[in-house]
Amino acid sequence: MLSQRVLHLSESITVAISSLAKELKASGKDVLGFSAGEPDFDTPKAVKDAAIIAIESGFSKYTAVAGTNEVLQAVADKLKRDNNVSYKPSDIVVNVGAKHSLFSLFQVLINHGDEAIIPSPYWVTYPEVIGYCGGVSVFLPTDDSTGFKITPKQLKDAITPKTKLFILNNPSNPTGSVYTKKELEGLADVLKGTKVLVVADEIYEKLLFGDATFTSFASLSEDAYQRTITINGLSKSAAMTGWRFGYLATPNKEIAGAVKKLQSQSVSNITSIIQKAAIPALDGTIDKDIEMMRKTFEHRRDLATKEFNAINGISVVNPSGAFYLFVNIKDICSDSMKFCKELLEEAGIAVVPGIGFGMDGYFRFSYATDEKSIEAGIKRIKAFVEKKYRK
Ligand code: PMP
Ligand code: GLU
Repeated sequence: MLSQRVLHLSESITVAISSLAKELKASGKDVLGFSAGEPDFDTPKAVKDAAIIAIESGFSKYTAVAGTNEVLQAVADKLKRDNNVSYKPSDIVVNVGAKHSLFSLFQVLINHGDEAIIPSPYWVTYPEVIGYCGGVSVFLPTDDSTGFKITPKQLKDAITPKTKLFILNNPSNPTGSVYTKKELEGLADVLKGTKVLVVADEIYEKLLFGDATFTSFASLSEDAYQRTITINGLSKSAAMTGWRFGYLATPNKEIAGAVKKLQSQSVSNITSIIQKAAIPALDGTIDKDIEMMRKTFEHRRDLATKEFNAINGISVVNPSGAFYLFVNIKDICSDSMKFCKELLEEAGIAVVPGIGFGMDGYFRFSYATDEKSIEAGIKRIKAFVEKKYRK
């Protein structure tokens, strides 16, 4: 009955495990969840106020498919101010979360057999949707010895006449790695003279720690600008996961036009109210809230990294961005699915197995939760490992 396309699609493992953890908790089980890629903070007040005003003033009709002029201009201004990239409002489409931006983009770009180069470990959705569109994912493996970053040579060697896209998620989910400007320039150099388009998923750009700095791929050069589709959204930076606000920006009129066409036949515009609510999240009004959250995440990162590295057989690199640790368990158990299943069943801890991100021997721990839970959770993991995997 079902289409071949959907039969080959897997459910998002990050969403599935987080839902399972919530269900177990609701049924009275003592479960601590570290699987959700979702800030635990409430949405900043200025955003809520803007939404309330929009509702009360009756801003409730369809808008233009790509978004109102106001919100497109606000995104363009944000990209200029924060990222030093110039886009016109017509280069931008706002979508129902960045996941939808990516889904639409892959739909309009990928033909059967087209290749997409993806550094691994990767966010679960990329290869699933590439495959759904008939494309083939080509993975570039990395590990903790190089901070989970690919080299220009790896990228160069992977390019074939069929390569359509290079997907770069910086800062990375699930590893938290952040590329320096110089490293990005090395990757951009390799692409010069090729037809490869870059999908720069920059949704974690505001979550940077220590002396890490962020560079947008499109800001590197005119060549990089022309070949890049920038993806971003408000879920992570503004604690707005449930509001569903993402966007893509590209100077390529054909691509932006095709995404608008597809959107006109699928969801039309995103919710009118959310377009109003997004303005204070884009124009700098909530910068103080963002900084408060960033600082809190940094503190939690330091705490969690220290606690994990004190467990025998487990190690983790201190990442420079996002809110995840990609924890190495190779010395104790190479089967991450088995490890995470047992950890949930026997210790009541929900984390995501590395295999879901294309890399066994690791699990992803999201520290987007309070410090008390982080301390209690890692304590349980320690006790579990000592009991079960003591050598
Ligand atoms: N890209 C990455 C790397 C993510 O981790 C997420 C998290 N869901 C998204 C895109 C999509 O976020 P959203 O759809 O909530 O904007
Ligand atoms: N991106 C988040 C995660 O990786 C949210 C869940 C999802 O959309 O996959 O956990």
